[in-house]
Amino acid sequence: NDEKPLNFIEEIIEDDLHNGKHGGRVLTRFPPEPNGYLHIGHAKSICLNFGLAERYQGKTNLRFDDTNPVTEDTAYVESIKKDIQWLGFQWAQELYTSDYFETLYNFAVDLIKKDLAYVDDSTAEEIAAAKGTPTEPGVPTPYRDRSIEENLQLFQEMREGKYRDGEKVLRAKIDLANPNMHLRDPLLYRIKHAHHHRTGDAWCIYPMYDFAHGQSDSIEQITHSICTLEFIPHRPLYDWCINKLEIFPSKQYEFARLNLSYTVMSKRKLLQLVNEKYVESWDDPRMPTISGLRRRGYTPASIRNFCDRIGVQKRENMIDVSLLEFCIREDLNHSAWRRMAVLDPIKMVITNYPNDHVEELIGENNPEVEGGEGTRVIPFSKELWIERDDFMEEPPKKFFRLGPGLSVRLKHAYIVTCNDFVKDENGKVIEIYCTYAPNSKSGEDTSGLKVKGTIHWVSVEHAKEAEVRLYDRLFNDENPAAAEDFKQSINPNSLTIIEKAYIEPDLMEATPKKGYQFIRLGYFTLDSKSTTDNLVFNRTVTLKDSWAK
Ligand code: ATP
Ligand code: MG
Ligand code: MG
Repeated sequence: NDEKPLNFIEEIIEDDLHNGKHGGRVLTRFPPEPNGYLHIGHAKSICLNFGLAERYQGKTNLRFDDTNPVTEDTAYVESIKKDIQWLGFQWAQELYTSDYFETLYNFAVDLIKKDLAYVDDSTAEEIAAAKGTPTEPGVPTPYRDRSIEENLQLFQEMREGKYRDGEKVLRAKIDLANPNMHLRDPLLYRIKHAHHHRTGDAWCIYPMYDFAHGQSDSIEQITHSICTLEFIPHRPLYDWCINKLEIFPSKQYEFARLNLSYTVMSKRKLLQLVNEKYVESWDDPRMPTISGLRRRGYTPASIRNFCDRIGVQKRENMIDVSLLEFCIREDLNHSAWRRMAVLDPIKMVITNYPNDHVEELIGENNPEVEGGEGTRVIPFSKELWIERDDFMEEPPKKFFRLGPGLSVRLKHAYIVTCNDFVKDENGKVIEIYCTYAPNSKSGEDTSGLKVKGTIHWVSVEHAKEAEVRLYDRLFNDENPAAAEDFKQSINPNSLTIIEKAYIEPDLMEATPKKGYQFIRLGYFTLDSKSTTDNLVFNRTVTLKDSWAK
């Protein structure tokens, strides 16, 4: 990390530290609106804000930006906290913009007293029309010249609930001809008679984002307030409010949001996927949410590593989702324990193996690390499940698996040769017959036999049953959000359920926190909603990038 060139925000901070700005202090914040679950885009912002604090011995506040009573909920607050901690970060303070409502109200009163804000009775349409266009200046509404006294009176009455939703608004008095539309007397407060998840019915006026965000930063004495590029045109207003109120000068900096291919990221769209049952829930393993990725088997380290690799840019771009998959594959290759599972079973009978005999073979948990992280017992017997596609009735030349007369090694066990098979009345192969070489056991092979293929298997008598879920991309379109209707490109085959797979008995000990490599099949993890009576495994990612062209 230290050898990497500084990103532009790190450069700014190092400059500030060098100049003794803010007394050498770094305080960032992560400001989610509690109106949905966090997604991988938020992870980028979390890693950036908390990462900067870590790097410069600073702190990060978690501030719930809860100024919109209609869409927000306490359940979202809990999920957001859980996800941040799971990613491995701890905030200095847990704060709520709603806790500042009284202070923000007083700030607004202060602006009115300075003749820098006024109550406007115009409708939303009238205000929009009077604002002009980017090439034409706006015109004042009939309310712009109200006296300070009248404005103070009306604003207090707004707070007291004298008016209906939309009847009046509070606007800043700035400049109706400013080329930046955000400075043409922007709204500061609106009336909304709605129950708030924290303040209940105490308020019926709520501050707009532009009036709440910068002031909240300032109240907390945030030094570097980092947001996404679409807020660049808001920055002059951010600075205007702070200057006119003469409060702590927090500064806003903007970086490019994360866009990921083959998915959507806006909470509004993700909520639609949930509500319209395209996915099971916010934590469906196909969702780009942190909770979905966790349930899918992603590790915190893999997500942090991903955020680190994509870096921080000043220009919008699209990151290929295969980079995210690469990061989890790399992590699991080092950490996952190896196991055997058969997803599409066909029975193999070893005709020369003694009846009712069981051998306890030993398999290393993790050949990628020294010491192997211990071993597990793998029972071996006369009847095994193997993968249907590891057998071909008429194999082509370079088929190094099973077919009449062909030999393979059974992983951790013996070399077997196929002699015969039987079909059912529909011509489907249902059983294959092999003989084994007793002196070919893995680790003590004296047979001198050479085979090119190794296949996985599970003993029929000892196998446990599990449901296995295989995932594909949720969208067929690389940029679904660009289409008129993003749901048009939903991939109808994003989930394949294998109701009855056979797994090694040791996998009964699996927990959702541990990743497993099912040999030759991919990386899997126990679903967090799995039960001992109904085991469910999710495929986190395939062993190789099946999308690479
Ligand atoms: P969405 O559009 O997905 O609803 P949002 O910006 O409305 O996102 P917030 O809860 O306001 O969601 O976001 C909290 C923080 O996370 C903000 O600082 C925001 O800039 C940042 N953030 C949100 N989406 C992304 C993204 N795709 N990439 C980087 N940062 C993001
Ligand atoms: Mg939002
Ligand atoms: Mg936002």
